[in-house]
Amino acid sequence: MNRRFQGWIILLIFLLATYSPPVSAEGQIEPVLLIRLTLKPQVTLRGLGPITLYYRSEKDLAEKPHFSSASWQKVEDAAIYHQLSWQVTMVDGQLILHSEQGDLITGDLPILLHNSGSGFELNGADYPGNLILWPDADEGLIILNEVGLEDYVCGVLGSEAYASWSLEALKANAVAIRSYTIHSLGKHDAFDLCAENHCQVYRGLPQAAVFRAAVTATAGEVLTWRGTPINAVYHSSSGGRTRNNEDVWCGLPLPYLRSVEDFDHDGRNYQWPNAYLCSVEELAHGLILPGEQALQVTPIPSVNGERVGFWFGGTSGGRGLKNEELRRLLGLPSANFRVFCYPEQTEITQPIVLPPGASLLFVGTGSGHGVGLSQWGAAALAARGYTYQQILRHYYGTEVDWENYATAVR
Ligand SMILES: [Zn+2]
Repeated sequence: MNRRFQGWIILLIFLLATYSPPVSAEGQIEPVLLIRLTLKPQVTLRGLGPITLYYRSEKDLAEKPHFSSASWQKVEDAAIYHQLSWQVTMVDGQLILHSEQGDLITGDLPILLHNSGSGFELNGADYPGNLILWPDADEGLIILNEVGLEDYVCGVLGSEAYASWSLEALKANAVAIRSYTIHSLGKHDAFDLCAENHCQVYRGLPQAAVFRAAVTATAGEVLTWRGTPINAVYHSSSGGRTRNNEDVWCGLPLPYLRSVEDFDHDGRNYQWPNAYLCSVEELAHGLILPGEQALQVTPIPSVNGERVGFWFGGTSGGRGLKNEELRRLLGLPSANFRVFCYPEQTEITQPIVLPPGASLLFVGTGSGHGVGLSQWGAAALAARGYTYQQILRHYYGTEVDWENYATAVR
């Protein structure tokens, strides 16, 4: 036993498990991802099968610590009995696992909990694959879930979609999630994706069987353009029409992220729950133009004449923001909004000067950035009888192709 892990409690079942990556129905190796989880402390952990422990001597989380790498070493003669519930914390650089029976595991090195396929329960939710507990000096306890692509897609689908949507809508979402996942694998350095909106929301495996059915029915399918998996971004509800990628973010126009009509009008997130008011002072502070009493407000049009943002100017300088940047700055539901002077309630379509004491009133529809697949629009199209392929071609265009991940991933 490694001396750095004094105090291991050797419990009941110990199985020598050999690791083998998941294999798809076609016999192709399935990609294995590392997802950084976001869990509320105190984390409660329970194995859903026998767990074998591994450790590694490096403390820096510098590159993806996959189980398949040679750095993990088995803690001999140690296993965690899977019926026990453990509290996981980090105190003074020490990782502490404390069982409901009073057993204690502690150490300052990263550990990996491996089981033979039954997964874990974390704060009441089921997670497949392996678990890595990494005591990081700067960030505290980092928890990584090493999970096969298909299980991960199922988890994201259950977190980002509704079980009440029809199967074709869920299949369209599954292909979009899988495509976006593979496209995004380089988004973080030491792991593949985080479990929040920055990448995709992932809260473990869902309970409803319909999510797994949608993933299985589309297993391995990704959308490609010119042979490369596309950045298949998606959002809840566009508010009537999706957006061109270059109107929302920086970058060149992508042929598969064009503005198209949406069918989300009856969706749950079509209407904003309320309007949003922002004073000149609040806006100037948020724009890092503090102290400005009045602001010049100028709409920025796209090449099509559609307003895609605003220029805000003061005596100390100015700053242009796209609608999506304003959404993020002010916490608005979507980037699809109209802006009015308040209290006059005149819409801002021409340059104006917002006087001291005035405010901007934001009124809008939709939820999310508005680019790519609209989830509520997809649900409406599926209810009209569209297949998942037709739904995907509506939102990503007719130039996209389908490929299996094993051939699409290089
Ligand atoms: Zn992320």
